[in-house]
Amino acid sequence: MNNEVSIATTPSPDSLLLQLERSAARAWHWLLDLIFPPACGICGRVDFRLCAGCRRELDLLPLKDYSKELNELHEVFATGKHRHILRNAVRAFKYDGATELAEPLAARMVKALRGLQWKVDVIVPVPLFADREAERGYNQAALLGRHLSAEMGVIYSADSLKRVRETSQQALLTPEERQSNVRDAFEACEAVKGHAVLLVDDVVTTGSTLRACAIALKEKGAGAVYGIAVSHA
Ligand SMILES: [Zn+2]
Repeated sequence: MNNEVSIATTPSPDSLLLQLERSAARAWHWLLDLIFPPACGICGRVDFRLCAGCRRELDLLPLKDYSKELNELHEVFATGKHRHILRNAVRAFKYDGATELAEPLAARMVKALRGLQWKVDVIVPVPLFADREAERGYNQAALLGRHLSAEMGVIYSADSLKRVRETSQQALLTPEERQSNVRDAFEACEAVKGHAVLLVDDVVTTGSTLRACAIALKEKGAGAVYGIAVSHA
């Protein structure tokens, strides 16, 4: 992991100041939560970030069979259409910092994967460009991938694939533009050679991002490449 920081054993005046700042921030958030109770990321009900009703709805929403001809990919599956609760959940998860949604969304993927029985050796999230990840504070695909790895007992490796150049947001482009936007945007590492890879993303639309990832992985000798997403638009 690149973001790991080493923790000093003796606190310097700096870190004491930092601790004070953190305590002040915690008190401030506690006060804010008291005045504006946190709302469910999906329906906005005043509750925790995911209310019991939305959690149940996510769990009960049937898995939709979805597969797409994507050439370089062996098979692609999305757990449902990108609308209603699934769309709200993905948006809150991706844009509103509702990282708590990783677990219930990954649970849908796990359910699908248990049925699909794909033989994969390593789980790789679709990477964000470093700047964008720093801006957002997390990569939503990586959070999903970690949950999948823990649940499925398959190795997780975010280092196997890197986004080597900034790309425009796919959602704003036409299908043709999407393809050229992500072409050569990814680079895989040699360690994927001979391994079957499960690519993880939040939404699949035309599949051009997954395809570009699969091409990069295969260039380094990866075996079958599969793709799983929460929803398909
Ligand atoms: Zn809710």
